[in-house]
Amino acid sequence: MYRIGIDLGGTNIAVGVVNDRYEIVARRSVPTGAERPAEEVIRDMGDAVEEALRQAGLTAADCASMGVGSPGACDPQTGVVKRAYNLNWFDVPVCRMLHQRFGIPVRLGNDANCAALAEVVAGAAVGCQDMVLITLGTGVGSGIISRGKILSGLRGGAGEAGHMLLVLDGEPCTCGRRGCWEAYASATALIRQTRQAALAHPESLLAQVEEITGRTAFDAAQQGDAAAKAVVAQYAVYVAAGLTDFVNILAPEMILLGGGISRQGEALLAPIREYVATHCFGQREGAIPTIAAAKLGNEAGIIGAAAL
Ligand SMILES: [Zn+2]
Repeated sequence: MYRIGIDLGGTNIAVGVVNDRYEIVARRSVPTGAERPAEEVIRDMGDAVEEALRQAGLTAADCASMGVGSPGACDPQTGVVKRAYNLNWFDVPVCRMLHQRFGIPVRLGNDANCAALAEVVAGAAVGCQDMVLITLGTGVGSGIISRGKILSGLRGGAGEAGHMLLVLDGEPCTCGRRGCWEAYASATALIRQTRQAALAHPESLLAQVEEITGRTAFDAAQQGDAAAKAVVAQYAVYVAAGLTDFVNILAPEMILLGGGISRQGEALLAPIREYVATHCFGQREGAIPTIAAAKLGNEAGIIGAAAL
């Protein structure tokens, strides 16, 4: 049996058909065109599904279900996208509209939750019942899998860990509050921390870089630059301090890191593991989760949506 996964993004809609091993057998990507009414976007989404099915030599009747992974606040019970600012969608019943066209069950999930589910069914956390995926990007996203299922909470609102508190009255966050984890552990925050270090240490390699990105501090640290090493060490502590809260609250089997910064691999993972192991409650041996990089990258959206 096949399933259809739709990764709805602000820029592109990626549609894939997966087989029962969650391998993508056909895919299609179209521009979202989010400035248009939602009905038009969903019509294009449906057209892309039909093209992907045709490519695979299948019809909707060969598929058990369809899933949509959407940014923003999504209600998995009603299948309604409540608020997605980058799509300009408010209360859009995307599941009902796709069900009317294709006649198969359609499920909805938040994109960060879909990415976590994808890692469990086909990625770095296969077989895990309790895991957390943290995405370190422009913001900090999170998806929590509990007993094999997405932890959704009331109206799908759970898993916004980027906005848990790290520092009372700390740095301003995009959400309007101060001191959120995201304001310290996102790529945006790392760039700010790197810029500050460059200003404070004019002798550093950081001060000679034209455009500071999320990689700058890692690259300079690898060349032995002291100021860069300090930035990386401090950033790892910011990430790890939040992860330690996850360990204390949920005791997951595994924590995966995704997003651009996770590509730094062991340079980031090793200090994080050390911090979590020495700071989590009780520090009991065997109670510390495996901490690793996510595996699926861009495919996670399609696979996770199909797994809904
Ligand atoms: Zn916030």
